[in-house]
Amino acid sequence: MSFQTIDRHGMLIRAQALGKIATNSYIVGCEATGQGAVIDSCAQIDAIEAMTKAKPALTVSSLLQTHAHIDHVAALAQARTLFDAPIYIHPDEMPLYEAAPLQGQMFGIHTPPLPPPDKFWSDGDEVTIGQLTGQVMLTPGHTPGHVCLYFEAQKVLFSGDLLFAGSIGRTDLPGGHAPTILKSLLRVVELPDDTLVLSGHGPATTIGREKTHNPFIRMARERA
Ligand SMILES: [Zn+2]
Ligand SMILES: [Zn+2]
Repeated sequence: MSFQTIDRHGMLIRAQALGKIATNSYIVGCEATGQGAVIDSCAQIDAIEAMTKAKPALTVSSLLQTHAHIDHVAALAQARTLFDAPIYIHPDEMPLYEAAPLQGQMFGIHTPPLPPPDKFWSDGDEVTIGQLTGQVMLTPGHTPGHVCLYFEAQKVLFSGDLLFAGSIGRTDLPGGHAPTILKSLLRVVELPDDTLVLSGHGPATTIGREKTHNPFIRMARERA
């Protein structure tokens, strides 16, 4: 088994870094119902499929996107076909989403045009995976429509490329904006200290740990 597993209060999480720049794809499953979601269909659809088929197998009923950078969507068209599940994304990601083939050319990742999203998120929307309920937090700055997904009962934040262990997402790509990402950071550090943070890149961390050790959070607080 080449993926990591985390069990948290009825939530089954499987995680694997995939593709050229090791981007984390997550499978989130509801232990009670066997329903599942993919958070960021990054690359290597066979690896994503294997995570869903591990015991207990999960039925993927939604494809959730933190944002539309190529390393997070490269396997999304294949995932849409394989799982026949709806794609959720924030509408402000559409310029990047529609430019996926072009982004792919820049990074040497062949990407077909993506199928149109099925549902557009707004800040505060509810995310349902079986009996699990999460919340969409619009957290722009890395990209204009970047979202984090927060599951309060499990104390898990899927932070995409907003927050990493010891670092934050870059803001020098098209649509990035440094003052905006600092504001978004201040929003997520309001979550409880023992919230598990599962990022788009690198290892897991917690909000408490990042409040103590992450220099960008210190910077965001000083500038606020
Ligand atoms: Zn990104
Ligand atoms: Zn990324």
